[in-house]
Amino acid sequence: MLLPPKTWLPQASLEHLHLDWLSTAGIEVAILRLDQIDPLISGNKWFKLIEHLKSADRVGAEGIISLGGAHSNHLHALAAAGKRLGFSTVGLLRGHPQQTPTVNDLQAYGMQLHWLGYAGYRTRHEADFWQPWQTRYPTLYPVPEGGGGLLGALGCMQLRASVCAQLEGLGWNDYDGWWLACGTGTTLAGLVLAEAGEHPVYGALAVPGDHGVAQQVERIVQEAAVFDAAYELLEACRGGFAKVDPLLLDFIEQTEQASGISLEPLYTGKALMALRQQVEAGKFARGTRLIFVHTGGLQGRRGLSSEN
Ligand SMILES: *Cc1c(COP(=O)(O)O)cnc(C)c1O
Repeated sequence: MLLPPKTWLPQASLEHLHLDWLSTAGIEVAILRLDQIDPLISGNKWFKLIEHLKSADRVGAEGIISLGGAHSNHLHALAAAGKRLGFSTVGLLRGHPQQTPTVNDLQAYGMQLHWLGYAGYRTRHEADFWQPWQTRYPTLYPVPEGGGGLLGALGCMQLRASVCAQLEGLGWNDYDGWWLACGTGTTLAGLVLAEAGEHPVYGALAVPGDHGVAQQVERIVQEAAVFDAAYELLEACRGGFAKVDPLLLDFIEQTEQASGISLEPLYTGKALMALRQQVEAGKFARGTRLIFVHTGGLQGRRGLSSEN
């Protein structure tokens, strides 16, 4: 059994976000705290896993095998879920053995690790990549990098219902759109499916524009056969994925002080900073109400200073 008990249903709270530049522009933002759904299992990666776990459960798998880097939020959420829910996990890692805070946690949560090197990791999209691993671990169910694809997106659809259920508590009767960080675009695609055109979803790209996010989102939308897809992708990576600059770090520090909410520089910090740029450039009319998704990722921040 890979699924959580009914008594453990992670709920993300929705809170007003008060920041000077928002009030100046007359924009209201509510932040959906996926970073706080559980002490161990954090962020959008849990929601991206749900349908993969159901699918694994249906075929009688005893655990999950997946892949990621030495700071991977996905492997972290997966290992934590395996420990919490009692299924076995195997992680295939990019590069050569190293001890990051994330890797320490993966081991502590009982995930079995294999280091593929860089060349080995690059073969992960080839048709026969999984075959030797499935021979070695026949009872484990493979999940693609980051928990992506249609199954990943389907698990994120429930975020819309969770927001709708909390609007009244905020004193809102509706909202005008979503704003969130995109890596593969899977989480955004889930919201696009759930909205079916009702509210637009704005994706702040944490990766360069040539990483195929738009194609990935289109593929999911088509697979799901949803015809009303309202979304927009905006540049937000500031020179490359995981590139960090002083202005960004400054922005994060100021925001944390003003709001009491922690951000990390790869996704959530860049996404909120891109929102500020767009708000200051007049993209949204006064009175606009947006949902900003805090996609988590704070665990990965621990390893940044030592690595860069
Ligand atoms: C993985 C991740 C994202 C990107 O999610 P996608 O579904 O790949 O677009 C955003 N924020 C954080 C913190 C993440 O870990």
